[in-house]
Amino acid sequence: MTSGKTPVSDWLLEVNNLACGYNGETVVHDVNFALGHGDIGCLLGPSGCGKSTILRALAGFLPLKSGEIRLQSRDISLPGRTLAPEKRKIGMVFQDYALFPHLTVAGNVGFGLKHSSREERQQKVMELLDLVHLKDLAHNYPHELSGGQQQRVALARALAPEPTLILLDEPFSNLDADLRRRLSLDVREILKSLGISALLVTHDQQEAFAMCDQVAVLRAGRIQQWDEPYNLYHEPANRFVAGFIGQGGFIPGTAMGPDAIDSELGVIRGNRAYKWPSGTLVDVLIRPDDIVYDADSPLQPRVVEKTFAGTSTLYRFKLSDETEFEALFRSHLDFHLGETVPVRVEADHLIAFERSE
Ligand code: ADP
Repeated sequence: MTSGKTPVSDWLLEVNNLACGYNGETVVHDVNFALGHGDIGCLLGPSGCGKSTILRALAGFLPLKSGEIRLQSRDISLPGRTLAPEKRKIGMVFQDYALFPHLTVAGNVGFGLKHSSREERQQKVMELLDLVHLKDLAHNYPHELSGGQQQRVALARALAPEPTLILLDEPFSNLDADLRRRLSLDVREILKSLGISALLVTHDQQEAFAMCDQVAVLRAGRIQQWDEPYNLYHEPANRFVAGFIGQGGFIPGTAMGPDAIDSELGVIRGNRAYKWPSGTLVDVLIRPDDIVYDADSPLQPRVVEKTFAGTSTLYRFKLSDETEFEALFRSHLDFHLGETVPVRVEADHLIAFERSE
């Protein structure tokens, strides 16, 4: 399916104007992104937004309605032309591990290496098990392993045929929060040490941020922003991304110029210049870490909600005009429900959108 006409690209994976879906219905629209060699990308969004659908199209299980998917400058999916999954050199890791229960750990990892000699296969399997720290469990069966260990086996099995790209579909969802965090960092390290590119699908932004170089935020089948995690947080492209990424909420304000907004929390200034004229009505994003305790501040909201989280406490405050916002304080700053607390805004970024949007 290689097209001789298409130019060689520096990207490993290119997805251009992709649309696909089921039974005549399009659920993913005009998706565009590109992944560099050795990069880890992510499709992040709420349940049902189309993440797995894009992954299925990349794996070759779903035909395209329009657009193209190119891997190493080669068309692998076009409308009416879908290169078979087994010919794509793409590995997959699923949420439920999908290990073969009747095969040992070594048997699972070596499953895709049928064309190698016995010695080559054994050597490769042991190398991979070493990489995922499971050498000692080579002769165990999947049911004898923890969830985290099973997922390491699944990763080693996907890596065995030396794929060009690995797709990971909610791989840590069945694991508890602590293990999820550790395993996502381990998997990143393993992929980076091998220089293998990967695309992760998740609804968990912490996982996306910890593991990925580039993240696409999706909503209703469309990419809202494809960017580095830092930029998604500090420079969200629209109101949906601003609300979906990180914590926080919007309060009303009035533009005083390109980089200052007047609000019930006082004048909020930032390092970003907007084009709107003074007087424009806007909504300003207030993140919980934008609010600091200041004993001398005249701004004194009431505590209406309090969530203790060990090292920190998340407070929900209300002003006399009913404006509400959240603040995250170290937990030794302990206030009671109903108490008034002097605070001020200390935002290092200014994120706001016109009210009519
Ligand atoms: P996500 O992975 O973000 O949770 P999906 O890609 O699974 O979302 O689903 C996107 C949309 O496509 C949803 O509306 C879902 O109901 C629909 N969908 C998913 N799989 C199928 C299928 N096999 N047949 C018909 N509709 C489907």
